[in-house]
Amino acid sequence: MPIEAHEANRRHWDQEALHWKQLRDRDQLWRRCPTEPEVAFTIVNVGYRSTNYWVVSAGTSRLLVDIGWPGTLGTMKASLERMGVPLREIRYALATHYHMDHAGLAEELKREGVPLLVLDVQVEAIPVMKAWMKPADNYVEITPHGNVVIACAESRPLLAQVGIAGEILPTPGHSDDSVSLLLDGGQVFTGDLPPPAVAFDNPVALATWRFLKEKGAIQVYPAHGPVWPLDGDFVGVVARKGVV
Ligand SMILES: [Zn+2]
Repeated sequence: MPIEAHEANRRHWDQEALHWKQLRDRDQLWRRCPTEPEVAFTIVNVGYRSTNYWVVSAGTSRLLVDIGWPGTLGTMKASLERMGVPLREIRYALATHYHMDHAGLAEELKREGVPLLVLDVQVEAIPVMKAWMKPADNYVEITPHGNVVIACAESRPLLAQVGIAGEILPTPGHSDDSVSLLLDGGQVFTGDLPPPAVAFDNPVALATWRFLKEKGAIQVYPAHGPVWPLDGDFVGVVARKGVV
């Protein structure tokens, strides 16, 4: 990319960031959030093509965790409908990380009215995505426009506003931009974080599992495969690898 274009991009990003900061300050969004949501929540899998996409709902207030393959908006809509999730009730879409099967539909869902929730640790990974796309993927490039960019420390009050008790945590191990949604009930949405049993040569991932366990994670909702319990077994794996 030419330097001028790069700088123009950078200026655009800065303006967007300032815009959202001003909105947050003006509305005092964070201070108005209730800290103890009272609505029971549900978890539904609207995934397809071997990838799980999770919808966490507090009544009709919903969060989509992982956002679909590029070029599959019709499939996503059909899956949402089949599982009884009205698209208009999704308050935010969150990608656990910016790989094509997790964030490929982000821009198209923005156009459908679903804001993209981005953690600050993910911002730099977004423009890199397009390098992996082929024309046949029909990927619509994610722009910074309208993205809601927050720090992980800001995630709890934002989620509380949606009615969800939990937080979003940085969870490297599969990629540097990987984050996980951890609900206060112990359910954790980990994207592609490799399970401890196959992460024996990945000390970053093992340390992340240890961190999640300490934060109260008990049930893992991965992006691929079934839900599994985060029991005590992996602690031994972590200890043996000396990353505790
Ligand atoms: Zn991935």
